[in-house]
Amino acid sequence: MAGSNSLLKACGLSYQQIRHILSKTGKWKKKITRQTLSEIECHWKEKVLSPTSSCSAKGDVGKEKEKRYILAMFPYPSGDLHMGHMRVYTVSDVLARYHRLCGHKVLNPIGWDAFGLPAENAAIDRQTAPRTWTESNIARMKGQLQDLRISFDWDREVATCTPEYYRWTQAIFLLMYKQGLAYSMRESVNWDPVDQTVLADEQIDSEGRSWRSGAKVTKKHLTQWYLRATNYTQSLLDGLNTLDPESCRGFANAQREWLRKPTGVRINVRIEPVGETISVFTETPELLYGVDFLQISSSHPLVSSTDCHVQGQRLLTDLVMIHPLTGQEIPIIVGDSHLLTASNNSRLGISVICDEDKELANQFGVKAVPTVLDSQHRLCNSDWLDGLSREEARVVCSERLQKLKIGGWPTSSELRDWLISRQRYWGTPIPIVHCPSCGIVPVPEDQLPVVLPEVDSITREEGNPLISNSEWINTPCPKCGGAGKRETDTMDTFVDSSWYFLRFTDPHNVSQPFSKLAADCLMPVDVYVGGAEHAILHMYYARFFSHFLYDQGWTSHREPFKYQLALGTVHSDCYKLSDSGKYLHRNSVKIKGDEVTEKSSGRPVTHTVEKMSKSKLNGVNPNDVVSKHGVDQTRLYMLANANPRAIKVWNPSLADKLAFPHGKQIVIPKWIHTLWHTVGIIKYRREQLRPDELVDMETDEETIRQINITRNFTVRAASLHLNLTFNLHDVVRVLYESLYTLDKVDLNTKILNKAFERCFADMLILLHPFAPHVTAELWEGLRSSPRLPSSQSHNFKWDEEIFTQEWPVVDGGYKLRLQIVESQSTDENSIIYSETDDMEADQSNPELSSSATHKNSANIYLPAKDFYNMNVTQAVNIALDSNSLVLSRSGGSVPSLASNCRLNVVPNAGLYLL
Ligand SMILES: [Zn+2]
Repeated sequence: MAGSNSLLKACGLSYQQIRHILSKTGKWKKKITRQTLSEIECHWKEKVLSPTSSCSAKGDVGKEKEKRYILAMFPYPSGDLHMGHMRVYTVSDVLARYHRLCGHKVLNPIGWDAFGLPAENAAIDRQTAPRTWTESNIARMKGQLQDLRISFDWDREVATCTPEYYRWTQAIFLLMYKQGLAYSMRESVNWDPVDQTVLADEQIDSEGRSWRSGAKVTKKHLTQWYLRATNYTQSLLDGLNTLDPESCRGFANAQREWLRKPTGVRINVRIEPVGETISVFTETPELLYGVDFLQISSSHPLVSSTDCHVQGQRLLTDLVMIHPLTGQEIPIIVGDSHLLTASNNSRLGISVICDEDKELANQFGVKAVPTVLDSQHRLCNSDWLDGLSREEARVVCSERLQKLKIGGWPTSSELRDWLISRQRYWGTPIPIVHCPSCGIVPVPEDQLPVVLPEVDSITREEGNPLISNSEWINTPCPKCGGAGKRETDTMDTFVDSSWYFLRFTDPHNVSQPFSKLAADCLMPVDVYVGGAEHAILHMYYARFFSHFLYDQGWTSHREPFKYQLALGTVHSDCYKLSDSGKYLHRNSVKIKGDEVTEKSSGRPVTHTVEKMSKSKLNGVNPNDVVSKHGVDQTRLYMLANANPRAIKVWNPSLADKLAFPHGKQIVIPKWIHTLWHTVGIIKYRREQLRPDELVDMETDEETIRQINITRNFTVRAASLHLNLTFNLHDVVRVLYESLYTLDKVDLNTKILNKAFERCFADMLILLHPFAPHVTAELWEGLRSSPRLPSSQSHNFKWDEEIFTQEWPVVDGGYKLRLQIVESQSTDENSIIYSETDDMEADQSNPELSSSATHKNSANIYLPAKDFYNMNVTQAVNIALDSNSLVLSRSGGSVPSLASNCRLNVVPNAGLYLL
């Protein structure tokens, strides 16, 4: 019990103070009180926090067990764990515990997305160092996560701000640089004058203000570092087709929408005499020999070096574009045109396919090149492309550009390369040296990491301290040894988080970012749990890194995530003064019926339900709820009554008693009490019996049948949802209903019937991932009771704790039966799915698609071996309750679904809808 004293202190209890629970006294208390619950949670803390069968970080990646990689998005160490965090980590924790009970080798790591602007700004405000601020936040949040008993593999913990981590971020950057995927370019960028840094387009609101500082964003021409993510557009689109189309549909569609359909290619062209490279998009790379001019907008960074105040179109006299294939000088026309957009401020003028280009070429007398298309629309005057069709030329020309590493990868005109430069201190240093004679020189791999110099504090006036740190910035050029200067931009934190899931497979490796063996054994991530707000950008960048590293031969999995579970946010009541819009705390308002006013002034208050947030004064601290109700009950409440993907509304009056509506209210503490009481009855009564009285009691057949149906139905539903649908709220509901059914069984059956004992013990195991402490104690109560003669015939390990029990499976003889009956009132059809062991069902036809529209009653029996699909071609309503699944075509109280939905029947799991 090393460290148990500090653990106990953390619970506010000393070891001697745990004196009421069975695990300490050997006696079962009649009632479970808050004090009992906190003693239970204290007693089991260590085991709940470090469950067995996790992957150890020390090598151990053998394949003797199936692996499951459950990953929750690592948090930004802001210092406060909020309800959104709690939701994400509770969901991932339940999934991890479920898979451990299934006997899988579970990887469930955690780390810190620790660089970034907010930490730097907070450190400036507090006149401390960003590292000090970040590290103290990490320590605090780690403690909070442990208080919530999330069973992370802490031996795999990483923080992106440590040199051990960011040296590999730098190494991957250099690898991209060598492949022509990292480049610097002068561009017109969004500049936040308050935060003194560039912003991505996504970080600016509709009024042109920074989402963080609120400052009006200006344009600035800066040389910036980019990653050529657009080269991977097609690869990223193709990768989506390799994912399970049913389970990944939402995520894949969001990615497709972001990537857009590739309509052309980007080409990097050199501008002389300034020696700059710009990226230009064209839909017709095959007509490259027919380029008459380059057209750029008046806000293009090339223009700022000349005169940008001239209206209308004009010819630049001091700059030319160098043709990427012929090396000829191509004139540049500047001026705004409807052919140029905000995301595309340059284009190639090709007269042969565009009348406007022809006019411009004539107007400015730029030498029109000979036509590149003959009368058969085949290429001519195009050197090696001559005689090819446009389609053929398009393919080979793109390939040539790719080989030359100057572009040619299919992408859309709107998608831009990834701007990764940030003009701030608290980030991964970009491993580049600028040399007056050699230009841009990458830092050699053996000189990594380029360590971020420590600072005591930063001031706003001073700006980026890297620029003024002469000791750090001045460094010999790695190429010529002359006086060089380090790059002072740091990387966007999205770069750090684009490969952390790979580092988790091998977190302590000092010679590589990760070993291929470890990544091959543990990747891909089976379930990636995180906020829906990260479904697009973060996933896009992470997939780009993963595809790139796959192409480099570093991994064997191109797609990093098998499934993404995007969680909804947590909302609660929000009050603001109707006139000024000032947010008020709930304690400052008076609620009388529908009328809400400010207590102090009586002014009218608007009541809404909004996402929890500090600024709206409607946040709830998860650790406060836990200290009142305990971890287990808070977890159950968090997961109950809302699909994880949907918004969870935290209603304060219901939350206060942990109740949620379900017909009548379900009150979680009452539910726990029922379980406690059942164990108490079994234990007390059996202990009072003489050994010869402790026999298996015969119960009537109908009761046994109901108990077995309850068991099989619950096991099937829980397994299905934990494995496939992730509808954890349904598991909570089904478990509640099943335990409610079991509670109605007569007393003698509860005490002495083996079917009941088996079913009840299985329910505890099913509930364990959700409420790990109290089920551990309930299990102790049950297994310390005198055993029935038949107890050993069950598959439980009665001499072991609940943590090492096996996840129950549906009985082999248990049949899934679907019954199609004609509706009584109208001519609608409905399918009633009921749990029964009726063997008279029709075994010949498992095809549901035809039978679903069958007019007459029919029974369908499905052998439990295959996966069935049923296409429902008309809008249907579907409801699944504890005993039946009903499909009908009419309206009603059941949720309405779109047409062409699919119903899947999964053996040993049940039915679910996609
Ligand atoms: Zn040099």
